[in-house]
Amino acid sequence: MSGRFLDSPIKYLKGVGPAREKILKQELGLHSFEHVLYYFPFRYIDRTKFYKVSEIREHMPFVQLKGKISELQTIGQGPGSRLTAILRDDSGMIELIWFRGIKWVKESLKPGKEYIVFGRPALFNRKFNIPHPDIEELNIAKTSQVQVQLQPFYNVTEKLRKANVDSKGIVKIVKALMEVVNNNVPENLSNEILDRYKLISREDALRYIHFPSNLKDIQAAQNRLKFEELFFIQLHLIKSKLIRAYKNKGVAFSIVGDTFNEFYKQHLPFELTGAQKKVLREIRQDTGTGKQMNRLLQGDVGSGKTLVALMCMLLATDNGFQSCIMAPTEILANQHYEGITEFLNKMNVKVGLLTGSTKKKDRKVLHESLLNGELKILIGTHALIEDTVQFNNLGLVVIDEQHRFGVAQRAKLWKKSTIPPHVLVMTATPIPRTLAMTLYGDLDYSVIDELPPGRKCIKTYHYFDKDRYKVFGFIKKQIDQGRQVYIVYPLIAESETLDLKDLNDGFESIQRAFPKPNYSVSIVHGKMKAADKDFEMQRFAKGETQIMVATTVIEVGVNVPNATVMIIENAERFGLSQLHQLRGRVGRGGDQSYCILMTSYKMTAEGKTRMKTMVNTSDGFKIADVDLKLRGPGDLQGTQQSGVLDLKIADLIKDEAILKAARKEAITILEDSEIYNAPKNNMIIRELGRREHKSTNWSDIS
Ligand code: ADP
Ligand code: MG
Repeated sequence: MSGRFLDSPIKYLKGVGPAREKILKQELGLHSFEHVLYYFPFRYIDRTKFYKVSEIREHMPFVQLKGKISELQTIGQGPGSRLTAILRDDSGMIELIWFRGIKWVKESLKPGKEYIVFGRPALFNRKFNIPHPDIEELNIAKTSQVQVQLQPFYNVTEKLRKANVDSKGIVKIVKALMEVVNNNVPENLSNEILDRYKLISREDALRYIHFPSNLKDIQAAQNRLKFEELFFIQLHLIKSKLIRAYKNKGVAFSIVGDTFNEFYKQHLPFELTGAQKKVLREIRQDTGTGKQMNRLLQGDVGSGKTLVALMCMLLATDNGFQSCIMAPTEILANQHYEGITEFLNKMNVKVGLLTGSTKKKDRKVLHESLLNGELKILIGTHALIEDTVQFNNLGLVVIDEQHRFGVAQRAKLWKKSTIPPHVLVMTATPIPRTLAMTLYGDLDYSVIDELPPGRKCIKTYHYFDKDRYKVFGFIKKQIDQGRQVYIVYPLIAESETLDLKDLNDGFESIQRAFPKPNYSVSIVHGKMKAADKDFEMQRFAKGETQIMVATTVIEVGVNVPNATVMIIENAERFGLSQLHQLRGRVGRGGDQSYCILMTSYKMTAEGKTRMKTMVNTSDGFKIADVDLKLRGPGDLQGTQQSGVLDLKIADLIKDEAILKAARKEAITILEDSEIYNAPKNNMIIRELGRREHKSTNWSDIS
């Protein structure tokens, strides 16, 4: 009965009519009561704290003030008119301003009375004002029973805002739901687990996560919900692994043959690093047993993962199997193709490339040679997943930069063969080892923790915008020496609030500073057509242009060894791991490379730490550690690094302790069929079944 309560459609909630129902579904995927309960706020604002007018600074998200209202004034008429008022406290005064609902606001405000005002300060003509504040008379607020202390804030989309459902609108909907919840939320953890980890009940947690009365409430709710989330994911992952080990025989790569040996002995232009050798041994062992391999390969940018992948594919070839490598973008797929055909150019191994822009005619030829087994290695993008792509005997799937692919996509690939192929997932996102093992609960784990020798350390500098002319001078020198330069901007379109240098502005000023015919400049951004992007990338890769102005589309994997300078504009807007990824685009050839972080003077303390960290270290794991420390508690959004497991509340880095506990409990339950079948765990197993049934991602994984 209570199960049905959670599944009730949201139209049964007070204040949700057909129009709202539709838009909430569309924009946030909220269909049922359960969805609403699990749509968590991303922050809470302490409504017990008051600021003085004189304490207002730029970029404060919200302030709450107390003071007297005066000088109500309507300016203009009809559309475009506005209402202003002055709020005074003993430290100063600030303008309040309304563009909508003017008449109503004007009538309800009483000059001379004391008010509580809450809102986001904006800077206009060098003076602060507060547009559309929440405003309540002090006397009324004092007596009102429902004065919230920690106000929840929810993410909403632009469309929702336009339909008058902002964060406060969500608050109302959740409130309406809370009124009918009364013991209708069934517990899904056993008493034993609740006791052992001192977790509060599911219903209490869902109540407190939305409407806490103090920080302790938030903590308790988060603990419980994080445990729940991680526990069911672990249960699922471990169960899949057990089932797979039980069901799935893998193809055995039992020999190391001529292809591998010829490449290794005659064509490999350098010595493998110790770490590469170690990983190859691990993979050899795995793939030789006759069990299916599912392995995550982690290694910093430039550590030589692709080469390891290639050698595994040669191993597959030697054992009579085909292999494929799937990259997240067309640019990367092309690059892999070029790199790999170059490596193999003296060998007789047929390699193909399949992307969205492969011509129909070529496609047909590819499909044929795939099906008859002639083609040994296929490189491509998502296009590989299409049903028309059929292999003769696929033995190994390599997935590059896995966080861009969903589990469902992975699963589709390994269904392309009756015996599931071995899977090697490569990522350059540094994750601490213990975490990686649990995060990818069903994968084994290898790491390349060593860079190829002779690689010069990338020199990293931090400059302020006013030093731009110096930086331009430096760029000129590098280009004169035959080198190439990346300049990266955070965004393509100006966001309305952030004063970001727009990519296009940047492009124009770079063109002015580096005019034709001596220089040519490329531009690449996410909104370009794939073919245009590719064209520009290729021009840069071939050295036809010296400067590449780009957004973060170049973040992943692009390889132009002749590029030695990476300039990152508005570097303070990037997270550490992204900065690290971007920096990894240079330092790929023999020349000394540089990374220059450009920022304005105005930076948060955190921003400064990020710049300092980048300047001081190039170790991806150290950077990941600092990154983790910087993100303070209290922001629920977390890192969500995986993209594979779409976490709502848990954070895979910060919640390591909870993750370990959840994993331990999951293993206990799954390892022993008596425990699994014990009545005390019924609700857990039922919930697992329900979640596996509901989630398309999950049903595809095993
Ligand atoms: P990743 O995919 O890990 O970012 P790549 O496989 O693209 O790194 O390798 C980066 C560059 O280093 C490539 O040009 C590659 O040929 C080269 N490389 C790989 N392994 C070695 C090695 N052992 N010694 C020297 N260079 C290497
Ligand atoms: Mg790579």
